[in-house]
Amino acid sequence: MARRCFIAGNWKMNKTVAESLALVRELRSAVSMVRDRVEVAIAPPFTALHPVAKALEDSNIVLAAQTCHASESGAFTGEIAAPMLKELGCSYVILGHSERRQLFGETDAGVNRKVSAVLKAGMLPIVCVGETLEQREGGNTLSVVETQVKGCLSGFSAIDGARFVIAYEPVWAIGTGKTASSRQAQEVHAHIRSLLGGLWGAETAGQVRIQYGGSVKADNAAELLSQPDIDGALVGGASLKVADFAAIVKAKA
Ligand code: PEP
Repeated sequence: MARRCFIAGNWKMNKTVAESLALVRELRSAVSMVRDRVEVAIAPPFTALHPVAKALEDSNIVLAAQTCHASESGAFTGEIAAPMLKELGCSYVILGHSERRQLFGETDAGVNRKVSAVLKAGMLPIVCVGETLEQREGGNTLSVVETQVKGCLSGFSAIDGARFVIAYEPVWAIGTGKTASSRQAQEVHAHIRSLLGGLWGAETAGQVRIQYGGSVKADNAAELLSQPDIDGALVGGASLKVADFAAIVKAKA
């Protein structure tokens, strides 16, 4: 079964409600031509999820959240539980983004627990992995990514496996303007798919979409997306500009 290209925009801590609605209004028509050939998601900040969900009704864009808590409810001041995100209309939750790992101490074991919560709530996880520049220069890229994949995904069956999206995001390429070459990215994506095969078998591994993230732009998207194991993109900065994000969405359509 062919994997449908999946482009997701991570807005990070940007856009008020009013700004989010203005962006969505333009985005809806800018990406409508790809219909269901490409799956498109946006991940606004928590505060904008509810109004954006309403603004996306009858569009071909689905909603994602940027993280969640692993528990369903409880004394976790300031946190948001997965069922709350489901209630707002989220289809996906981004987990283990490198900013969460670096700035908020998120670990593979913590991501693993959050994945359970997301699946239980009826949403799909986008699990981010990727090496730092130091790890790449030390020749450790594949082993670092392997540890992250195994740590985040352990304990899930092949049935759950088919519901995962993985995002390979080299830390040195996020928000830096430096992109992995298509060859560098494809090498890691192929490695991830072979790890998924080891966990869940070749059939399930062949169904999992693996996005690339790290300074994806209109002018490098087509080349990256032409690689056999690159099934989409997780886009940060360029997802805040309608023309740039729409061009990435259309790069493979
Ligand atoms: C990201 O934050 O997931 C990301 C890939 O950011 P950027 O596209 O800005 O590098």
